[in-house]
Amino acid sequence: MESAQAVSDPLPTRLRAVQEVLRPYPEVRLLAVSKGVAANRLRLAYGHGLRHFGENYLQEALDKQEALADLEGIVWHFIGRIQRNKTRAIARNFQWVESVDRELVAERLNLARVGMPPLDVLIEVNAGGEDSKGGAAPDAVESLARVIVALPQLRLRGLMALVRPRPEEADADFATLAASFRALQRAFPDQAIDTLSMGTSTDYARALPLGSTQVRLGTALFGHRSQETT
Ligand SMILES: *Cc1c(COP(=O)(O)O)cnc(C)c1O
Repeated sequence: MESAQAVSDPLPTRLRAVQEVLRPYPEVRLLAVSKGVAANRLRLAYGHGLRHFGENYLQEALDKQEALADLEGIVWHFIGRIQRNKTRAIARNFQWVESVDRELVAERLNLARVGMPPLDVLIEVNAGGEDSKGGAAPDAVESLARVIVALPQLRLRGLMALVRPRPEEADADFATLAASFRALQRAFPDQAIDTLSMGTSTDYARALPLGSTQVRLGTALFGHRSQETT
């Protein structure tokens, strides 16, 4: 974790640059990806109007949630790899889980959420078919969606994905994701499927015209993370 640099905090300048890119897309949500960023810097970000924060590591997130419990209207999204023994804590401490990629995880999240309002979930898709990345294969999305829709404590809201790094591959992946998203909306017309979470610091400007409804930005807002926390 880094220390706060309240004297010359670069966040306002970075945030303005991001907002400039987002200006033609007023419906798009900005999710601040805050892994490796200390709670006091999230508090500053909140002061600049950010409300949605994305975390990858459960314990780190729980510590920050405790430190920031006084901030009203803050919305926590879990975007990291999900280990089965962490599903209970994830289900009970986040409003959104964006990295659901298998049935077992969906079923465990559902059970752990009993007694609370439904959990908003996204299916993570491995659009580019890269072995190193998590996510369901594109052709497995619809069957996983069917499982999620039948679980009363989960509310399927759409898809999340990382894409391949080369710009032309990224564009192809974004287009594939947008097509899967539309197919999902057609297959489940009575569900509130409204969220296509795609675009990170390096590629969000490309994701916007291809249909992103939520960009997930870490570096563009908070600067580079230290090695251990990436
Ligand atoms: C870390 C992370 C991001 C943010 O990446 P940046 O390049 O720092 O913007 C977005 N999505 C997921 C799933 C991540 O793990």
